[in-house]
Amino acid sequence: MADKTYDLIIIGGGPGGLTAAIYALRAKLDLLLIEKTGIGGQIALSDVVENYPGTAPISGVELMAKFEEQAKAFGLEIEYTEVQGVRDGGDHRVVSTTAGELRTKAVIIASGAKPRRLDVPGEVEYTGRGVSYCATCDGFFFRGKDVVVVGGGDTAVKEALFLAKMVNKIELVHRRDALRAEKIIQEKALNDPKIEFHWDSVVTEVTGDKTVSGVTVKNVKTDAVMELAVAGVFVFVGILPNSDFVDCDKDEAGFIKTDEHMRTSIPGVFAAGDVRTTVLRQVATAVGDGAIAAYAAGEFLANL
Ligand code: NAP
Repeated sequence: MADKTYDLIIIGGGPGGLTAAIYALRAKLDLLLIEKTGIGGQIALSDVVENYPGTAPISGVELMAKFEEQAKAFGLEIEYTEVQGVRDGGDHRVVSTTAGELRTKAVIIASGAKPRRLDVPGEVEYTGRGVSYCATCDGFFFRGKDVVVVGGGDTAVKEALFLAKMVNKIELVHRRDALRAEKIIQEKALNDPKIEFHWDSVVTEVTGDKTVSGVTVKNVKTDAVMELAVAGVFVFVGILPNSDFVDCDKDEAGFIKTDEHMRTSIPGVFAAGDVRTTVLRQVATAVGDGAIAAYAAGEFLANL
């Protein structure tokens, strides 16, 4: 293990982690931010963000580049590696990564979430060959083709609207008869001539040969089954927390429980953003969480 003991290690470079970094660096904490893949988190996959106050519509990548630039201006140091464990070491915390173990007095977990799978036959087999979890990444490959979008939340409806700009037709399959997404985007989708809604319906199988050629859809009220011929299946049925590496109190879905100071059940370990149990997961709420977590971590350090 390295001899150095950081004041704070932040896990995750999305809106929550970068905001925590900005606040903690301004409080002159000696910190390291660890990111597994690339700065930005899930919002970097969003083609447009329209609800971040004070900011005209902007792509997720551009918005996060601004966060990163601001944090780096305060001296942010980023290490690209995967966190495998966070544990209490008594007077310090230990963060184990694929690159080795790091000592720190406090930790902020802002590791976000990942897409939930449908868990139906054909889904895993055709992932990358027609099944996708990111319209901004893969939509281009389906220009002029017919695709299915599964889900009724903000992600499904926003991504359907994005795909509608390039595909021929979208079959939106949702398990209930009402969308969960924000009303303003619901209205846009319901009025988009390229989107056909299949209410009270679930995808039960993805079929194809080398690539996807269709899905089987079942109406959960009537049990009627139909086949839809499509080249792509975009799955947006919610998220799962990236929280396996830490053994603290979590809810039944694995999201980390915190108090209003973003404290987890492990002393000196805080959580912010999508990875924690919360009523709303937005850039705006992750930013608020990150600011509180950094403040609370500072208070924790001051009282050591
Ligand atoms: P979500 O809000 O949890 O919605 C998931 C959708 O998938 C729901 O409509 C749900 O149906 C459906 N679903 C869940 N499990 C399913 C299954 N096994 N089979 C079929 N359908 C299933 O997830 P999300 O849309 O990914 O959003 C995650 C969070 O990010 C939310 O807090 C959301 O508000 C936020 N977000 C915000 C924006 C924005 O622009 N404001 C954009 C993206 C995401 P039911 O409705 O029946 O539960």
